Amino acid sequence: MKFAVLSDIHANWQALEAVLEHSHDADQILCLGDAVGYGAEPARCIDELARRGVPTLVGNHDRACTDRDILEWFNAEAADVIRWTIEQVGPDRLTWLKGLPEHSVLNDVLLVHASPRDPIYEYIVDASIAGPNLELLEDRVCFHGHTHVPGYWYLDSGGVAHNYWLGTTRLHGPVLVNPGSVGQPRDGNPDASYGIWDVEAATFEFRRVPYDRESAKQAILAAGLPERFAARLDAGR
Ligand code: ZN
Repeated sequence: MKFAVLSDIHANWQALEAVLEHSHDADQILCLGDAVGYGAEPARCIDELARRGVPTLVGNHDRACTDRDILEWFNAEAADVIRWTIEQVGPDRLTWLKGLPEHSVLNDVLLVHASPRDPIYEYIVDASIAGPNLELLEDRVCFHGHTHVPGYWYLDSGGVAHNYWLGTTRLHGPVLVNPGSVGQPRDGNPDASYGIWDVEAATFEFRRVPYDRESAKQAILAAGLPERFAARLDAGR
């Protein structure tokens, strides 16, 4: 059984379409949250996930669409896009977003948007944050997103270690595996990022996919969303 593990689509239809096409060898798609925010086509992205019945978790941007208090934590431009997104998607899709779970377990692997101890909001950006989360996992594997940087945190003899690795790795728990972001990569590589989890082989393959960035950028500008969110698609930052 092979799962394509997607995260942080962020309403980037062109990137989602490219990744869905590229991941045709997977038996099923999973999404670790943040279907919306930043990008110009939230309705189209939600509809595709819903139509395919993709198991999807709630991310911080998804939650902000249905809980206005969360918006205070966002920077002004990101919050503006959330308000725009709420209008764009309408009540039925908001209900879909509201119904997304905070975590799930699949074949003994924990799935969250952000981190095991704080499934929607915590950014695993350094060893001091990865450490306690690896401890919580005991010997389990966790897939998470949120930082938009592909790679994995694990324990070696020297303590907490991180690998930024575009290839295939064997899954030995405890390990925190981030497939990167489909719709807004932040590791300096603008190509859409996702991964393939092979359950029987216990491996994770990191993949990158070029997509039609020009159309995604044009859609952001045409919708009147902040230019910065178009520009960063090229920078991959
Ligand atoms: Zn995100």
